[in-house]
Formats: sequence, structure tokens, C-alpha cells
Amino acid sequence: MARYTGPVCRLCRTEQKKLMLKGDRCKSDKCPLNKKRAAPGKDPKSRSGKRSEYGIQLREKQKLKRMYGMLEKQFRLFFDRASRMPGVTGDNLIRLLESRLDNVAFRMHFASSRSQARQIVSHGHVMVNGKVINIPSYMIKPGDVVEVKEASKKCVTILEALKEVSKSGVYPWISLDIDAQKGTFVSYPERADVTDLADIKEQLVVELYSK
Ligand code: SF4
Repeated sequence: MARYTGPVCRLCRTEQKKLMLKGDRCKSDKCPLNKKRAAPGKDPKSRSGKRSEYGIQLREKQKLKRMYGMLEKQFRLFFDRASRMPGVTGDNLIRLLESRLDNVAFRMHFASSRSQARQIVSHGHVMVNGKVINIPSYMIKPGDVVEVKEASKKCVTILEALKEVSKSGVYPWISLDIDAQKGTFVSYPERADVTDLADIKEQLVVELYSK
């Protein structure tokens, strides 16, 4: 599956929001947004005027899409699927995004960023219900057990990432056995529990795609 391979900090600078795409670096002083760098482009001031309704909706969609490391086509497919599900489309969209295997591996702290999680999944370090799955977009269901493969349990990247649990804790929709490097996706997350998306207005994405 295709993915964005350009400079990721540029994406945050465009949105003027920390999208947390680089793991530990995002929490350090090295983050360019801590230095208040301007948005990329020849004359960022020329784009700082009042945004149209469409512009606001578009930026919200871009933020969400980029946080989950997805390209337009795949993101749109997720939205279409969310809109066919019963319930609130915006909530459904977040649930689907949260169910991707790379995201679940990230939420279980097997990686310090979603892009790193994507890499450990594609390199075959992660098992779902006892079977190696190397497809980052594989959809996890409530009750599925996700774990690091036995041969990868000494992988320094994974061990380093797992240290983050002591700082940020375990997400409410996940149960985690840190020593076993194994977790269960207990349920789909409640929207309010996805606190790092607290300022994302997914309703604007729904309005954009519903035009
Ligand atoms: Fe975004 Fe992280 Fe780069 Fe900061 S360090 S601009 S949060 S990707």
C-alpha cells in the first residue's frame, strides 16, 4: 500500500498542529513547531487570511488523514465504510481508524509512532491471534489478541517504545501485558477516550465528503 514518503514535519507545519508523526522527537525541543516555524511555502502570510468553509473542512480532513499516515484513496474508503455503518459517521470513522493493526500496535506501545508501528508490522514482528500478520491496514476486532512475535521480543525499538507505558499509561479500550509484549483490543474506543484527537472535529470531515 502506498504511503507518504516526504518530510513529515512539513505536514505539521502546514497544519500548524503537532500531528505527532515522529514519536519521541515530537515531545522534545527538537520539534520544529516548538520553534514556531512558519508554514511551508513561498509566502505563508498570503495563506493566513480567513479560510472558506471548504478550506476549514479540508484542513480538518488532512490533519486526521495524516495523523493515521493514510493517503486519500484509502482514507476515503474508510469514510465510505463508516458512512454505511449504523450510528454517527464521525464516531464510526474514528473507530475504524483505531482498528487498523498498525494503529493498535502503536496504541499498545510496541512502537513510538504510527509510522514505526507500520514498519514493525510490515516486517512481520507482530502477530494477531497467534498468526503473523504483516498488513498494516489489517482490521482488528474486539477480542483480538495482538502481540510481538517471540523472535522479536528483544528488538530494541520495541523495548524502547514499551517504556512509554510508564509515562502515558494504557488506553482504556486496550488491556496490555507489558512483560509478555501482548495486548487485547477489548472494545472499539469511545470517542471521548481518544484524547489525542480531542481537538479534531471529525464532523467537518463528514461534511466535506458529504458535499
Ligand atoms: Fe510534527 Fe513531530 Fe515533526 Fe513536531 S517533531 S513537527 S510533532 S512530526
